[in-house]
Amino acid sequence: MSGTMMQKQLTISSLIEHAERFHAGTEIVSVETSGEVARSTWGAVGANARRLASALDSLGLEPGARVGTIAWNNRRHLEIYFGVAGGGRVTHTLNPRLHPEQLAYIVNHAQDRVLMFDSTFLPLVVAVKNHLDTVQHFVLLGARDDEAATKIDGLKFYDELVASGDAVYSWPNLDENTPGALCYTSGTTGNPKGVQYTHRSTVLHSIAGNQPDGIAISASDTVMPVVPMFHVNAWGVPYIAAHTGAKLVLPGPKLDGESLAKLIDAEKVTLSLGVPTIWMSLLDGLEKTGSSAASMTRTVVGGSALPPSMIPTFRDKYGVDLVHAWGMTETSPLGTLNQLLQKHRALSEDEQARVRLSQGRAPWGVDLRIVDENGALLPHDGETQGNLQICGHWIVESYFGKDESALTEDGWFDTGDVATIDSDGYVIIRDRSKDIIKSGGEWISTVELENIAIAHPQVANAAAIAAQHEKWGERPVLIAVKSKNADPSEQELRDFYNGKVASWQVPDRVIFVEDLPLGATGKVMKNKLREEFGDVLMEGK
Ligand code: AMP
Repeated sequence: MSGTMMQKQLTISSLIEHAERFHAGTEIVSVETSGEVARSTWGAVGANARRLASALDSLGLEPGARVGTIAWNNRRHLEIYFGVAGGGRVTHTLNPRLHPEQLAYIVNHAQDRVLMFDSTFLPLVVAVKNHLDTVQHFVLLGARDDEAATKIDGLKFYDELVASGDAVYSWPNLDENTPGALCYTSGTTGNPKGVQYTHRSTVLHSIAGNQPDGIAISASDTVMPVVPMFHVNAWGVPYIAAHTGAKLVLPGPKLDGESLAKLIDAEKVTLSLGVPTIWMSLLDGLEKTGSSAASMTRTVVGGSALPPSMIPTFRDKYGVDLVHAWGMTETSPLGTLNQLLQKHRALSEDEQARVRLSQGRAPWGVDLRIVDENGALLPHDGETQGNLQICGHWIVESYFGKDESALTEDGWFDTGDVATIDSDGYVIIRDRSKDIIKSGGEWISTVELENIAIAHPQVANAAAIAAQHEKWGERPVLIAVKSKNADPSEQELRDFYNGKVASWQVPDRVIFVEDLPLGATGKVMKNKLREEFGDVLMEGK
């Protein structure tokens, strides 16, 4: 044997092992379901993860078994991420905002053997437990609670389970292609589908997504993932934080703007991540608390399009850069991240903001392309729109429990998004292919119409939908929420589009509502809006 290199498997346990060994004293701050702020460290999280893995061995839980979680972003959930996967099982995060029937469907489909949940979700678990066919152990995330014990036969308590584990347990040597986590798509049409991430895909995603031109978390950061740990592994942040040794601030159930603003100041958060609606409410919270978010340097925004007006507000008022990212459950999720190139440094702030509005560029490890309806490649000229396809190390190949490939014949995953890609590789998501408005032969981007509406000072939020139209097939209709104490008229808003889009793209109607319906991951449910308002342009309506 000569001239060889060590062979080590890329495992999730290697991430926590590193944090436990080299960042043992770095804090993990966690808002508990009680609202109490609890403090732990990477050292303690690592030790508890090992105890949990050994306790699951003692329960006789076989390799590959799925352990479901219904939990907020908190310290115990973090320990489960590493303890379950590190021991060779699969962490299956469940979204508590799903309809109970859908939740039961997913637990049964995944054949979860254990279900671990925060006390907030005890009533939900009690309501669905008789429909969960495969769950053998229910575990409440906390200390013993005698009242809760009366509600579920044989209920176990996480703190006791962990205490029963072996503190000198050492991680098994797993093959890097072993699955470690499972997450279901939001399933706005049809049943949700499971995406199972491997140790290898997770580790590569963490490293590649966290480059200086990506999320760029370092050991000197204090990171607050507001994006839920039940949604695509909080965009990989728990894993990234472990391999960098960053301090984590896990906000638990308190996700209103004011609570987040206070937490940012109290813990000196430098970087946070979440969907745009969260940052809208944070702006409100900062205003209310009078906080200047002095410690914050940047915020990663993804999950739906970043409204343009947000960039200057965060930059000018709070000195916070917004980093726009795009991805989906099937892509682990990081598919693109927006950082500026050297040539952009010479641009004015407003010109830079325009570049930052794009969803960004692919990190090493994934490739992107756009194709037409027949699958023919389209040019990356920043103008031609097409169906966005992706391939790479952390992209789904087939859905959980399904034999057939989820890919095109030549091995790409079709994202269902319509996008442009420019010559530097910057992607702009124009729409979901099922949301885009097809008026006559032309396409109208709902994202563009929404961005314009949200920039109107008297509009708090807006969604554009395709409404059926006798002559044009579909026409745009804007559903808008007025800002507090504002009362814009329908005509005023329609006039606001003049000069900003072609006249045939201006919404035919503006309908004001109190609130937009949000799905389980905080995105506007356009299918609901289409159901309600899709026929407002038809005769007799
Ligand atoms: P999910 O799998 O639930 O995370 O949903 C993924 C979908 O969210 C993508 O296919 C996009 O349609 C949308 N999405 C995610 N990030 C962005 C973004 N930055 N801008 C626009 N749409 C986004």
